[in-house]
Amino acid sequence: MSALGPRIASPWAGQTVYLPTLHGKGPTLTSVLAPTLGIAQVQEVPVDTDKLGTFCGAVDRPNGPLFALATKIAAAKEMVPEGRLFMASEGSFRPHPTVPLQMVNLEWLKFADLDTGFECTVQGMTTTMENHERRVGHVDELHEALAPYRLPEHAVMVGLPGAPGVFFKALTTREQIAEAVATVLREHPVAELRSELRAHLNPTRLRHIRRLAMRLANRLRTACPKCEAPGFGEPLPRPGLPCATCGFPTSMPSGPAWQCQACHHIEHRKVKGKADPAFCPMCNR
Ligand SMILES: [Zn+2]
Ligand SMILES: [Zn+2]
Repeated sequence: MSALGPRIASPWAGQTVYLPTLHGKGPTLTSVLAPTLGIAQVQEVPVDTDKLGTFCGAVDRPNGPLFALATKIAAAKEMVPEGRLFMASEGSFRPHPTVPLQMVNLEWLKFADLDTGFECTVQGMTTTMENHERRVGHVDELHEALAPYRLPEHAVMVGLPGAPGVFFKALTTREQIAEAVATVLREHPVAELRSELRAHLNPTRLRHIRRLAMRLANRLRTACPKCEAPGFGEPLPRPGLPCATCGFPTSMPSGPAWQCQACHHIEHRKVKGKADPAFCPMCNR
């Protein structure tokens, strides 16, 4: 993609960015943000983010991802009061908004400069993920059931089918999993295997977070063409492609738009072409 606005020097060179996590994302984010933003490091702050909600459903995430990001940064600031730069990561696995039966992994990364009040959040969606659920009634079924799990880089949890909590987490060997399943089956007829979704136990998810961090860095080095604030460049699809028959704006995408978070200047790259009248509200009244 061609540059949207002028490239700018990082205003955060040499500084430390604090990241609330227990899940080992610090080195990954440092490897992206040190060379691109010139920051010294992304230092992990041991905030137990699982208390804010977990993937395995033991704790619900209230109020959505943006609230969770802000809460995590506030918790980290409490632990590092002298800190200026903070980041937070948040992910979820859910059904695709429009494609039936397709699951997606959504990730968010937030960067905040608490001295200036500048903040920037990026979101990424992928269908490439390791997120499996298999049920077994006997340890003999394990060999087949474990086939999709990509052990030992990706870890497995063992619990009861459909139950929110799990009994065993972070299992990476067939022996550990067999033992956990045997323990569950002593009391229950069926045990459930689930992929660990925490980033340090799911390298596929960690790769997705890494790619998102690259987008974040790119955006932080791009200035708004109007007011020169950093953070310009996250495309948002905009509807409004004109109808081929009557020219009325339809729900079809008309090209990406970028908005400056500081001055709200919008650059809209309109695509050429017309929309099928089937999508036109005017022609289908
Ligand atoms: Zn601006
Ligand atoms: Zn029309």
